[in-house]
Amino acid sequence: MHETSIVNSIMKTLEMEFEEEKLDKMSAIYLKVGKLSNIEPRLLHNAYTAKNYCGTRFHAVKLHIESTDIKIKCETCNHITEVENYRFLCEKCERPSKNLIQGEEMLIHKVEFDD
Ligand SMILES: [Zn+2]
Repeated sequence: MHETSIVNSIMKTLEMEFEEEKLDKMSAIYLKVGKLSNIEPRLLHNAYTAKNYCGTRFHAVKLHIESTDIKIKCETCNHITEVENYRFLCEKCERPSKNLIQGEEMLIHKVEFDD
């Protein structure tokens, strides 16, 4: 499943990023998932729960997923518009734009540790 491999790669990224003793104290992961990223937060959450980290160092780690809106920056007037209903139009000059500045990403926004 798509989401399971995403969960795996997130955990792998964190394992490479942080030292062993920090990983043992990890308590929460905050993700930002763009609405155009093809990742469904609910499914990602299910995949994380299904992984069942019980008995591992990640057993107490909570996963928080924030869904981020789609934003475009107009090439003509530089105005930034929040896209609703997949209407890729600048709200200021009403020209169509595909210059995405937010909405496609899946990133680890924040990681929390117990002291
Ligand atoms: Zn514009």
